[in-house]
Amino acid sequence: MGWFKRKIQGVFTESKDKKDVPQGLWYKCPQCKQLTTKEEHIQNYWVCRHCDYHARINSENYFSIIFDNNKYIEVNKNLKSLDPLTFKDTKKYIDRLKEAELKTSFKEAISTAHGEINGQTIAVAVMNFEFIGGSISSAVGEKICRIIKVAIKKQAPLLIISKSGGARMMEAAFSLMQLAKTSGYLTLLSKEKIPYISLLTDPTFGGATASFSMLGDINIAEPNALIGFAGPRVIKETIGKDLPDGFQKSEFLLEKGFLDFIVHRKNLKSQISKFINMVYY
Ligand SMILES: [Zn+2]
Repeated sequence: MGWFKRKIQGVFTESKDKKDVPQGLWYKCPQCKQLTTKEEHIQNYWVCRHCDYHARINSENYFSIIFDNNKYIEVNKNLKSLDPLTFKDTKKYIDRLKEAELKTSFKEAISTAHGEINGQTIAVAVMNFEFIGGSISSAVGEKICRIIKVAIKKQAPLLIISKSGGARMMEAAFSLMQLAKTSGYLTLLSKEKIPYISLLTDPTFGGATASFSMLGDINIAEPNALIGFAGPRVIKETIGKDLPDGFQKSEFLLEKGFLDFIVHRKNLKSQISKFINMVYY
């Protein structure tokens, strides 16, 4: 028999409360487990210096990489989802939205802005994965359409940075309609002969890959990003076969012809700028 016995069974420290390093000082890479100072990590574009792991970052971070001197005008910042179906699962959808807003300081799973990249105008939309998994709500679809209108009005190239789990199930068919709606608006952009660059980052799945994310004039991706429609487990169960190594990674997709090139985050700004100079400006 043990010397000490817990009086109350099932008392444990939640994993979120177990912190290996004091927050705000160090960054621990989830891939190679090496430590870097947070400052150094940010200076290196949120990419691990040891193993090149591209950490998941949000719209504010990408805006700071893309726009000159981090200057940009955010549009439709306050546009957010309603609850068209008064949906409830374990929680009310309306409460989930409020929680996500408080947790992330974003009002939706996408932020849209325009500004300059190396002195040339560009319209940019970036998805926020921390907001309900970057899922596509009717507000996300609407914001994409509105930034396309901005791109047309300004005759400026469009960049969409995807990071999404797919459709937002709490909006059911309202979410699915955004696939057709955003694709239709991209056709308008194409008719104006304005280039659209789609950057796929880790992870991009479901409704995003089934619509705007794969409709770029060029589709590019960050290294080692997971990109697909359905997850590997579902595919494995459907086809009843083992999947090849690196399946659904950006390098695999590049080899199979789904991507035009893979871009390291430190070269992102220069590569996009080079591309729009080559084909447009
Ligand atoms: Zn690492």
